[in-house]
Amino acid sequence: MVNKILIANRGEIAVRIIRACRELGIRTVAVFSEADRNALHAQIADEAICIGPAPSKDSYLNVKAILAACEVTGAQAVHPGFGFLSENADFAHMCGRCNLIFIGPDPESMELMGDKAKAKKTMKRAGVPVVPGSDGEVKSIEEAKRIAEMIGYPVMVKASAGGGGRGIRKVDSPDKLEAAIYAAKSEAGAFFGNDGIYIEKFIANPHHIEVQVLADNYGNAVYLGERDCSLQRRNQKVLEESPSMLVTPELRKRMGEISIKAVHACGYKNAGTIEYLVDENGNFYFMEMNTRIQVEHPVTELVSGIDIVKQQILIACGEKLPFKQSDITLRGHAIECRINAENPKYNFRPSPGKIESLHMPGGPGIRIDSAVYQGYTIPPYYDSMIAKLIAYAPTREEAISKMRWALAEFLVDGVDTNIDYQLEILKDKDFINAKYDIGFLDRKDFASRL
Ligand code: ADP
Ligand code: ADP
Ligand code: MG
Repeated sequence: MVNKILIANRGEIAVRIIRACRELGIRTVAVFSEADRNALHAQIADEAICIGPAPSKDSYLNVKAILAACEVTGAQAVHPGFGFLSENADFAHMCGRCNLIFIGPDPESMELMGDKAKAKKTMKRAGVPVVPGSDGEVKSIEEAKRIAEMIGYPVMVKASAGGGGRGIRKVDSPDKLEAAIYAAKSEAGAFFGNDGIYIEKFIANPHHIEVQVLADNYGNAVYLGERDCSLQRRNQKVLEESPSMLVTPELRKRMGEISIKAVHACGYKNAGTIEYLVDENGNFYFMEMNTRIQVEHPVTELVSGIDIVKQQILIACGEKLPFKQSDITLRGHAIECRINAENPKYNFRPSPGKIESLHMPGGPGIRIDSAVYQGYTIPPYYDSMIAKLIAYAPTREEAISKMRWALAEFLVDGVDTNIDYQLEILKDKDFINAKYDIGFLDRKDFASRL
C-alpha cells in the first residue's frame, strides 16, 4: 500500500477523497490555486501546496506544478477526481513515468474511451449495442449529409473529445446541418482543443441510464447496478437516482453483463461508468464511457454499500476486488440533488460570493458531500456546484419525502442557489410517478414557477 496520496482536484470531490484516504490510514496532500487558499480541501488535508494562480489552466491543469508537488511532498499516488486532469491520458502517462500511481485506468484505455467516436467503434466490435450513426469521425460536410440522410433526422452532432454536455448539437433538418457542425466544432475546439465530430441518430425521449463498474488488475470485474440521470438541463445532470424505475431485474442483468463485456474489450481497470440511452421498450444503446469517478457516485454507494473511492485506491495499489458479482446486493433507493450556486430565475447564471450563513440538513438517511462552510467565499473561477445532497431510504417514496424535507431545511444566505428549483422537481406529480425522460426538465420549465 501507499502511505501518501496527492489529490489533484478541489471542491467536494477533493474532500471526499481526503476522507476515504483517512479511513484507509493514508496521508493526504491537497493542491490549491491562489483563489483557493481558504478552501476546505486545502485546510483538512495533512499537507497543502499552492500550485498557481486562479485560472484552472495555471493551477488545477498545471501538470508540471502538480508533479513537482508530488516530488516535494513524497506523495506516491495521485487521485485526479473528476473534471480537470481526470480524463487526460497524457497526464496519467506522465505520472507513470515519474513512478507515481495514477488512481484510474491505464492511459491506453483512457485514450481509447476518451475519444468518443473511437470508443463507439470499439464497443460496436465487442458486441455492445451503440446509437446508430457514423462509423467514427466525420471528415466532410458531404459525408455528414450522406450519413444523416441514411440514419434519418433528427440527428446529433457530437464532439469526439466532448464532455460535460459541451460540443453537442441537435439537428432537425438537412438545411441546419452545416451550421450545427460548425458550431459544435468551434465549441469543441475552444473547450477541448480538438474539433473532431461524429454523428448519431437522435433518440427521442429516452432515459440516460449508466452502469457503474469496478475492475481490478487481475481480470475481475463487477457492476454495481445503474443510475438514472435523465433529469438534465442542457445535457447537464441535475438530479440522479438509483435504481432506475425503468430498469427491471432482467434488464439490469443484461445491461450489467454487456457492461462487463465492454470493460474487458478495452482492458479497463479501476472504477468506470458506461452511459447508455434506454428507450421505453428497454432497448439500450452505448453512448460513452467515463473513465473516472463520477459526480453522482454516492447514490450507487448507498444502494450497494460499497465505498467506490476506497475501492479505486485499493485497486490502483494492486489489491484484488474483495467481492464477486454474486456478493453484490442492491438495497433501498437513493436520490442525489446537485446544489449549485446559481440563479434559476436569471437563466441559471452563476452566483459566486460569500456565504453569510449556512444550515445544512441532516438526520437518518441524509448525506451531504460538500466543501463549503459559513463565511466561505465561493470563487468565480470554477464549477458552480457547491454541494450534493443525497437521500437514502428503503423505498423511492420515502427517499423523495426525505429529500423534500432536507431541501426545505437547507438554508444558504449570501449567494443564490437552485435549492427551490430542486424542490419544484421533487413536488412534481410526473417526477413522483417516475414519468420522465431526458427532455423532462426542458419541457417543464420549473424555473418559471419560482
Ligand atoms: P458526471 O457524469 O460525473 O456528472 P459530467 O460530464 O457532468 O460527468 O462531468 C463532471 C465534471 O467534469 C463537470 O464539472 C464537467 O464540467 C467536467 N468535465 C467533464 N468532461 C470534461 C472535459 N472533457 N474537460 C473538462 N471538464 C470536463
Ligand atoms: P458528455 O460527454 O458531454 O457527457 P454524452 O454523449 O454523454 O456527452 O451526452 C450528454 C447528454 O446528451 C446525454 O445524457 C443525453 O441527454 C443527450 N444525448 C446524447 N446523445 C444523444 C442522442 N443520440 N439522442 C438523444 N440525446 C442524446
Ligand atoms: Mg456523458
